[in-house]
Amino acid sequence: MYPQVLLHIAGAWRPAAAGETHPVVDPATEEEIGTHPVARQADLDDALAAAERGFALWRATSAFERARTLRRAADLLRERAPEIARVMTLEQGKPLAEATGETRAGADIIEWFAGEAQRAYGRVIPARAPNVTQLSLREPVGPVACFTPWNFPINQAVRKLSAALATGCSVVLKGPEDTPASCAALVRCFLDGGVPADVLSLVYGDPKEISDYLIPHPVIRKVSFTGSTQIGKQLAALAGLHMKRITMELGGHAPALVFRDADVDLAVKVLGGTKFRNAGQVCIAPTRILAEGPVFDAVVAGFAQAAERQTLGHGLEEGVTMGPLAHARRLPAVSALVEDAVARGARLVTGGQRHGNKGYFYAPTVLADVPRDARIMNEEPFGPVAIVNRIDGADALLAEANRLPYGLAAYGYTGSQVSADRMSSELEAGMVSINHHGIALPELPFGGVKDSGYGSEGGAEAIESYLSVKLVTRAAL
Ligand code: NAD
Repeated sequence: MYPQVLLHIAGAWRPAAAGETHPVVDPATEEEIGTHPVARQADLDDALAAAERGFALWRATSAFERARTLRRAADLLRERAPEIARVMTLEQGKPLAEATGETRAGADIIEWFAGEAQRAYGRVIPARAPNVTQLSLREPVGPVACFTPWNFPINQAVRKLSAALATGCSVVLKGPEDTPASCAALVRCFLDGGVPADVLSLVYGDPKEISDYLIPHPVIRKVSFTGSTQIGKQLAALAGLHMKRITMELGGHAPALVFRDADVDLAVKVLGGTKFRNAGQVCIAPTRILAEGPVFDAVVAGFAQAAERQTLGHGLEEGVTMGPLAHARRLPAVSALVEDAVARGARLVTGGQRHGNKGYFYAPTVLADVPRDARIMNEEPFGPVAIVNRIDGADALLAEANRLPYGLAAYGYTGSQVSADRMSSELEAGMVSINHHGIALPELPFGGVKDSGYGSEGGAEAIESYLSVKLVTRAAL
């Protein structure tokens, strides 16, 4: 049932040149379900040569034709969603409904960028002399190296691929080694939809070895990475050294401010509903729930109910609402953060331990009154753990929300226009959503500030970073 995973290089789906592979594990059973090839330098050289050829071809293809190709890819992704989603659930663990939703949403993202391909306008700038024409042209930046993680094997890759391909760039994608097959199925949709073979290569291997080789390579003109802040800083430094453009979508530790005048039922329903999606392995998941005194107990109780309502199990089973953590590294990482918080005096409201003894399941967990020096108040939890702390007053709420170096998403619930205005202007985050969860639609900008990175992965803004500006000024003779 789990497909053979291959590299896609220069028009061929193929194993690594040296024949090396690495196991892929079902995180719900800990059983090996397949392998992925491990690309080394010879494979990367082939992918880079293809990217160079592919760029020459694709940039010369009309925006209209690129858009039509992307729309065909979107249709294929939608058609194939049922089988791709099953594969995603097997390798990543999320419930089938979430995997299906992610795959279908991928098709919407491709369609959005197909439209943008036809709107990458330049400008005509009025000249100082009558015989002069001044044009600001937009050109694709060149071959792009993309690095995408395992939490959303399709969503993280599709944003980069769609924006790059819409503008006429070619791509070498290093997909997620923990969840390679669903990402490969996405790449197949683009190729079957008509993206020329040299334009899109897919590799897996040792992430550091691949990024160390691709980023400095002269063929690569831009780097786009989604993953942890720590790795993102290393890759940004390397890209800077070689003057490569970058987009960095990094970690977050989203505050959710619940003011005393908030609709608490709404806040708990929406925040509690999003907290445990994908077992909390979501960069924009609400993690620090900061509630004022009069609503604090209701918020704690609401989150405890949301946690206890979850049905854990294999994502392919009917009725399961939360799967395991996606790989073996997350279980000790999440456990250590929770144990540290409890040891420092946090109140364990529910959960707080591994669930079962097979698979990387961690019980949906709510911690309250967590001291500020606990690790989990400062490091991204990236798991099914909600922190609910009592904080009173708008100044104190905003100060705690902005305390961390992260600045990805932030949420707020209030009945007051004044508090909503203050959150809109004072929260240090790339995305602020007030009184609803309104983040991550294809047409909206998606990205962070501070240590959460820079550049956008959504909306019209996402196209910008794949385009260079060229001034052409011409005098008529
Ligand atoms: P990690 O930091 O080792 O890896 C995160 C991602 O970066 C993985 O996909 C990995 O393959 C890739 N990566 C690691 N080193 C790389 C390198 N030198 N070059 C290129 N890619 C590299 O950690 P992990 O255990 O896989 O994940 C844990 C942390 O990663 C989480 O706590 C979270 O902060 C972060 N993360 C963030 C996102 C996101 O959506 N922003 C997604 C996945 C993971």
